Amino acid sequence: MKSQDIRSKFLKFFEDKKHAIVPSAPMVLKDDPTLMFVNSGMAPFKEYFLGNAEPKSNRIADSQKCLRVSGKHNDLEEVGYDTYHHTLFEMLGNWSFGDYFKKEAIAWAWELLTEVYKIDKDILYVTVFEGDEEDGTPLDTEAYDIWKQYIAEDRILKGNKKDNFWEMGDQGPCGPCSEIHVDIRSAEEKAKVSGKELVNMDHPQVVEIWNLVFMQYNRKANGSLENLPNKHIDTGMGFERLCMVLQNVQSNYDTDVFTPIIREIETIADKDYGKNEKIDVAIRVISDHVRAVAFSIADGQLPSNTGAGYVIRRILRRAIRYGFTFLDQKEPFIYRLVDVLIKKMGEAFPELKEQRQLIENVIKEEEASFLRTLDQGLLLLDRIITHSNTKEISGNKVFELKDTYGFPEDLTDLILRENGFTYNHEEFDKKLKEQQERGKQASQLKSDDWTIVLEDDEQEFIGYDVTEANVKLTKYRKVTSKKDGEMYQLVFNLTPFYAEGGGQVGDKGYLEDASGDVVYIVDTKKENNVIIHFAKSLPKNVQGTFKATVDAKQRYRTECNHTATHLLHQALREILGTHVEQKGSAVHSKYLRFDFSHFSKLTVDELRDVENFVNARIEGKLPLQEQRNIPMQQAIDEGAMALFGEKYGDTVRTIKFGKSIELCGGTHVKNTADIWHFKIVSEGAVAAGIRRIEAITNDAVKDFYFENNRAYFEMKDLLNNAKEPVKALQNLQEENTNLKKQIEQLLKDKAKNLKGELKNELTEVNGITFLAKQVDLDAAGIKDLCFELGSQYDNLFLLFGAENDGKALLSCYISKELVAEKSLNAGQIVRELGKHIQGGGGGQPFFATAGGKNPSGIKDALEAVKSYIA
Ligand code: ATP
Ligand code: MG
Repeated sequence: MKSQDIRSKFLKFFEDKKHAIVPSAPMVLKDDPTLMFVNSGMAPFKEYFLGNAEPKSNRIADSQKCLRVSGKHNDLEEVGYDTYHHTLFEMLGNWSFGDYFKKEAIAWAWELLTEVYKIDKDILYVTVFEGDEEDGTPLDTEAYDIWKQYIAEDRILKGNKKDNFWEMGDQGPCGPCSEIHVDIRSAEEKAKVSGKELVNMDHPQVVEIWNLVFMQYNRKANGSLENLPNKHIDTGMGFERLCMVLQNVQSNYDTDVFTPIIREIETIADKDYGKNEKIDVAIRVISDHVRAVAFSIADGQLPSNTGAGYVIRRILRRAIRYGFTFLDQKEPFIYRLVDVLIKKMGEAFPELKEQRQLIENVIKEEEASFLRTLDQGLLLLDRIITHSNTKEISGNKVFELKDTYGFPEDLTDLILRENGFTYNHEEFDKKLKEQQERGKQASQLKSDDWTIVLEDDEQEFIGYDVTEANVKLTKYRKVTSKKDGEMYQLVFNLTPFYAEGGGQVGDKGYLEDASGDVVYIVDTKKENNVIIHFAKSLPKNVQGTFKATVDAKQRYRTECNHTATHLLHQALREILGTHVEQKGSAVHSKYLRFDFSHFSKLTVDELRDVENFVNARIEGKLPLQEQRNIPMQQAIDEGAMALFGEKYGDTVRTIKFGKSIELCGGTHVKNTADIWHFKIVSEGAVAAGIRRIEAITNDAVKDFYFENNRAYFEMKDLLNNAKEPVKALQNLQEENTNLKKQIEQLLKDKAKNLKGELKNELTEVNGITFLAKQVDLDAAGIKDLCFELGSQYDNLFLLFGAENDGKALLSCYISKELVAEKSLNAGQIVRELGKHIQGGGGGQPFFATAGGKNPSGIKDALEAVKSYIA
């Protein structure tokens, strides 16, 4: 059965069981502070399980793109080495939100596997939760009894908390689960060891394919469990593993999900898969990683240096590295795999097809730039190897290569070993650990249970219409993090505060109760569909009624920038073309930032056209036309554009200003005239094919002009009120260049004269040509002098002292023959002489320098050096 059919059979099966079929949610999460990527099928439905939102149906089935490369589920290091863990994979799932429970979930899973897919019952094992004494949670007899109607009891295994109890996090919904495992070994192998012994033992042919989670408890902050009022079903089946079983192969990579990509890699690299383990690992890594990276880019997450973008960059770099080292790929090649990937997956995931160009460009550019890094790293490493006195390189150096230059440890290791070197692993690990600790501490968050103030915790957002309202607290909790210290999270029955989202920052403001007690709201964010207000303290009387007031000035400035962002988007599509697509935006009170797809730098004329276009619409005084809760299709028909990687409900809100229409949840000015003026302040590239514009509006524009004007007049003043200040500045620059040249020449002449003088001062001591003297040159000048004299005299020993900017410098030069014959070492000598100038230094045996803060000690050093040649 082809993989496409396997996927559609799954969906069809559950559709027949009255499930609503939904498309995969975007993989990159935007509004969940606890998770960067969807890592299981349930992640997009969290708010339903928590009861913060209503699903459109209480039965849903889907195939969800998952990425397990960070946080709790991180399979990255396994990928490529085993045959059944991927970074990106599809999780087929069926869901019951307070509807059916164990009986149906188990019956249907069994029916699908054994009757629809016709998997032989004799290769299946299932597990049930054995219970846990600490928790007081019992054996899942309910599941056990249901399973035994379908499968022989000796194939039902009892599993521990680690494998058979599922939790959303430290707190929240959780429950026992039943896993379904397959044993696809040969009969011969099976005769030797029973599959029973191998379940959950990391055997590549005895693997878990499906996990049925029975959500029936809620875990509280103190660790105790309570029963959930509504019980849910959450199941996840690994699509690629299912394909492996149904296509009768021994590895996910031998299914038709991967073989076309692998064939393409074989062709490009001229290497065969299945002949050499190292090459095979590399091919698996690359075929896996290209999928993860392509899907992320399609979802709008580009490789970058922070957060989710950095995770993606690291995945891609891992692939590049394996290609570089094991497949000899020194030029970009991974982008060439995108084509086959799209042929394979483009039907099920149209976002890939539509974004092909961007995906290819971004990957190619990333490859080229990382290959340059690798080249540079190789040079650095070469230098380290040639200059090392020992065969063991310090771990700190290797860490620096990785941390500062992005040169990976495993590659360093490989190259060092090839050259007969090693490095100090302990030192490296220590450094790495320190860095990871710092990262962990910064992000660690501890949260208390919610304290409920008002039972009825429905919440309403009224901030589109007002910025002030009387509100009541429904619940609150304390959270503690290293970064922000102690904070209180407050939830109200209704709120005028806009929560960060759609690029727009969260509102700030304050609460005031009847007694005049004031609490400041420093930020507003949305978590699992609940609007959370962040405060440094708790109101004195949590039962009270509060006047909640949004900082209206900041909100207004933010609105100017948000509306301007829409106009900017429209301008870019009109002026540059409809290939322009929004790739990210940040709307603050002080400025706006807009990222979009476009392939070249904007010219000055284009920038001017864009500004004029936006300003014409500001001058046109266009009123805000807002539609709330209209069907998605209607919005699209009216011309609104859905963005890739954005999650939309069935009904949406549209914002219209003239011909600009967008799907948008943000807040806006009532009329474009409010914006007063729009000004672009910068334009540049953020990645291959992605440009970024930063712009300002309103007050910020006034400040901008004022500051520029002031700078201009100050400059003019400094130029003695020149009539043509630009020309006057150019003249100054020219003059400056000429003067610099003259100084350089003078210094050269001086050094030459000095050299002549010094030659007469050289003396012979014990067969050594010697001079120790204070000179008036800088460090570079002295070095030149040393090496010039060095080329003219044998057996030379020089020590020069110099005073520059109140600091002392000693430079010691010793001819190489002398170094060898008399085992003199300039490095050691300057280190000792450094004491006289209260400093230290070092270098090579034939040339070394020391710097110090005591110039009056130079004389003593010049005197003391005589002892070395005596
Ligand atoms: P494993 O122990 O094999 O890592 P898991 O316990 O982490 O699996 P779940 O979190 O229960 O798996 O996920 C549900 C299903 O998703 C699994 O039964 C498996 O088929 C699939 N799956 C999990 N992780 C991966 C992965 N990294 N690559 C491919 N499929 C996976
Ligand atoms: Mg796992």
